[in-house]
Amino acid sequence: MLRSMSPLRYMYLDLNSFFASVEQQRAPSLRGCPVAVIPTETEATCAIAASYEAKAYGIKTGTMIYEARRLCPDLICVLGNHEHYRDYHDRIKDEIDRHIPIFRTESIDEFSCQLQGRECTDDGARDLAQRIKRGIANNPDLGEHIRCSIGFSTNRFLAKTATNLHKPDGLEILRHEELVARTRHWTLDKLTGIGRNMHRRLLRAGVGDIDTLYHLPPRRLRHIWGSVEGERFWHKLHGEELPSFETERRTVGHSHVLAPEFRPPDQAWLVAERLTLKAGTRLRRLGYLAGMMHLSIRLEHGPKLSADIKFSAVRDSLMLNRHLSTLWQRLMPRVTPDMRVKKISISLWHLTREDQVQMDMFDRSTAAPVARRREELSTAMDNLNRRFGRDTVVMGYLPSRSHQFSGTKIAFTRIPDKEEFYE
Ligand SMILES: [Mg+2]
Repeated sequence: MLRSMSPLRYMYLDLNSFFASVEQQRAPSLRGCPVAVIPTETEATCAIAASYEAKAYGIKTGTMIYEARRLCPDLICVLGNHEHYRDYHDRIKDEIDRHIPIFRTESIDEFSCQLQGRECTDDGARDLAQRIKRGIANNPDLGEHIRCSIGFSTNRFLAKTATNLHKPDGLEILRHEELVARTRHWTLDKLTGIGRNMHRRLLRAGVGDIDTLYHLPPRRLRHIWGSVEGERFWHKLHGEELPSFETERRTVGHSHVLAPEFRPPDQAWLVAERLTLKAGTRLRRLGYLAGMMHLSIRLEHGPKLSADIKFSAVRDSLMLNRHLSTLWQRLMPRVTPDMRVKKISISLWHLTREDQVQMDMFDRSTAAPVARRREELSTAMDNLNRRFGRDTVVMGYLPSRSHQFSGTKIAFTRIPDKEEFYE
C-alpha cells in the first residue's frame, strides 16, 4: 500500500497503567481487580493511576476518589509507593537494555530507542518488540503484569503516537503516510504536543481534525502556533526527527548542601521549601509546566532517601509547595529527630511547554479559574522579586538566615542563568 517503505528509526515504549500494574505485579490479590493508586489515605484526593479494570469504569488519573467509588463501589485504593515505582523503572530499563540501548528516558514510564540494521525493517522491529515484551514477562524481578505498548516509526513523535494506537500491550508500526488514515477517529488533542489551549487555537483557525492539520503547509502551522514551534510540529507530523534544541528541557531542579545549623529535619524543611520556590520561579521563566516532582534527601551518616510524585501539569508555587509537603511527609517517618540532613535535591520532571499544555483535568471542573489565579499570583511574585530583589515576596516563612542557602552562587552544579540571581 505504501509507495516508499521508509526505514524505521525509532522505537518508543510506554508502560501501561504503570503504577497500578506495579501494584498488581507485587500483590497477586490485586490482579484482575479495579485498582486506583492514591497519594494519601483520604477520600479528598485523586487517583494518580488506575488499573485497566478500573479504567473500564471510567476511572483515570485525576479522578477524585469519592467520584471513583461512585463509579465503581468495589474499587480498591492502594497507597502509592514511589520507591517501588522507581525500582521497577530501573529494572525495566535494565531489561530493555538487554535487547537495545536506551536512547532517552522520556519519563518514569516511557523510553525511546534508536533502531539499527535489521531493527529498521518491519519484521525486525516486531521481533525486537516481542523479545522485550517476553523479557519483561519472564524477568523474575518484573513479570507478566507489567505490560507496555511499543510503537515504531521514523521519528520519536510518531513512534510515541503509535503507542497510543493500541493499549494495553500494543505493538504498532506507524509511518507518516498512514497517520491520517489510522487516527481518523482521534480528536486533535490526542496528539502529543497539542494541549487544551493549542487545540482551541487550531479550532479557531478552522483546523478541526488530523487530516486537515496534516495537509496544511508548514508556514501556516507556524502562523497558528505563533512561533517556530508550529513549523517544528509540521516536520514531526511528517516523520522527521528534529535535533533537540536546548529549549527542550528534561528537568528543572535545585539542590543544596546544608550549612550545619540547617541540618536538623525541621530546619531542613525550610530549605526544601526555598528550593521548591526557586525551581517554580525558574520553571515559569523558562515557560514550562511540570507534571512530576522528585525529592531526595541525603542524611549525614545515612542513606539517601527519595520519593516522586506525579500530578497534572502545574507551574504555580502554591501547588508545587503542596506536592513537596506530600513528599516530605512520605520520607519523614524514616528520619528520626536526631538525624541530620546533609543535602536536599528537588527536581521537576515531565515538563510541558506552556503553549502545549494538556490541562485535561481542569476541563470539566471549576478548578480552572482557581488554577489561573494561583499562576497569576506566582507570576506577580516573580515580577516583584525580579524588580526589587530576591526574597522581596515569598510564600510562608523564610528564615532570617535565608541568604546562607538561597544564594545562586552556592553549591549549584551548573552555570546559573543571569536572571536566576534575582530569584
Ligand atoms: Mg504509560
